[in-house]
Amino acid sequence: MIALGIEGTAWNLSIALVDEKDVLFQINKPYLPKTGGIHPREAAQHHAEEIPKILSEIFKRFDKIDLVAFSQGPGMGPCLRVVATAARLLALKLKVPLVGVNHCLAHLEIGRWKTKAKNPVTLYVSGGNSQVIARRGERYRVFGETLDIGIGNALDKLARHMNLPHPGGPKIEELAKKGKKFYNLPYVVKGMDLSFSGLVTAAQKLYDSGVSAEDVSYSFQEVAFAMLTEVTERALAYLSLDEVLLVGGVGANERLQEMLKLMCEDRKAKFFAPPKEFMGDNGAMIAYTGLLMFKSGYKTEIENSAVKPDFRIEEVLITWD
Ligand code: AMP
Ligand code: MG
Repeated sequence: MIALGIEGTAWNLSIALVDEKDVLFQINKPYLPKTGGIHPREAAQHHAEEIPKILSEIFKRFDKIDLVAFSQGPGMGPCLRVVATAARLLALKLKVPLVGVNHCLAHLEIGRWKTKAKNPVTLYVSGGNSQVIARRGERYRVFGETLDIGIGNALDKLARHMNLPHPGGPKIEELAKKGKKFYNLPYVVKGMDLSFSGLVTAAQKLYDSGVSAEDVSYSFQEVAFAMLTEVTERALAYLSLDEVLLVGGVGANERLQEMLKLMCEDRKAKFFAPPKEFMGDNGAMIAYTGLLMFKSGYKTEIENSAVKPDFRIEEVLITWD
């Protein structure tokens, strides 16, 4: 079976085809704001313009599609609506089933697929989300999460304050490598939950006081990633699990990977991270998860295909292994 997946919850419009064995094709068309952060309506407009172009590229190469999957949420309303409209239309036109996919679940499932992790504690770190997730019976449960902004958004905000273009995460990573002096910043872990907005404000003030962008980036990363590693470690211990899976765009960060690896070594746990192309938002994860869901009984009728900007992973009943 060949599934087509459309991802477009935020900045990256990505359409892919997968079958049971592999990713057959993927095109990414990122929306890159000229100034500032992501503007939801501008991003939606970008997706609306690019979807027909990508689809015509796909139909030149593939004539058999058995399923259309789309990211139903969580994400930015205007972006989600564009993607859902395209997906509905395509499923009706091709007369194939439609499957609405939870975006967080898709990150997690492609991570498991590409790394062969079985039952991990997953750290999902992206622009809008930061969650520690593990499966308990027929649901994925969120054991800890950010109480305000996602770590990716925090990195992007700090970068913007230091006059760096969007997305800021990779730029902060480069600067941090050259940092020499560590400055203490607020470390905010509340039980199993995290908060990043105070940390961003403090780091911005540090930069305004004349500290170099390199030292600010270094100090920010050390504190923020230690917070994420602490909560992941506690979830491992509470749940007596021995695998950690890192997914989401921020997962590409080498320092975050290093911290998690060291923690896993100490606990004799295995650390997994998928290849970079499947870390950030991508169409393959939606196509793959749509296929997985369809094969275990899921199908989204048109009348149930409305977008869900606040869709939580716990809402999905897990009917597969
Ligand atoms: P996603 O929403 O999963 O596509 O992830 C996008 C987020 O990942 C943005 O906030 C980026 O700044 C962030 N990001 C991408 N690469 C890196 C990196 N190497 N280090 C830190 N953050 C990153
Ligand atoms: Mg994401």
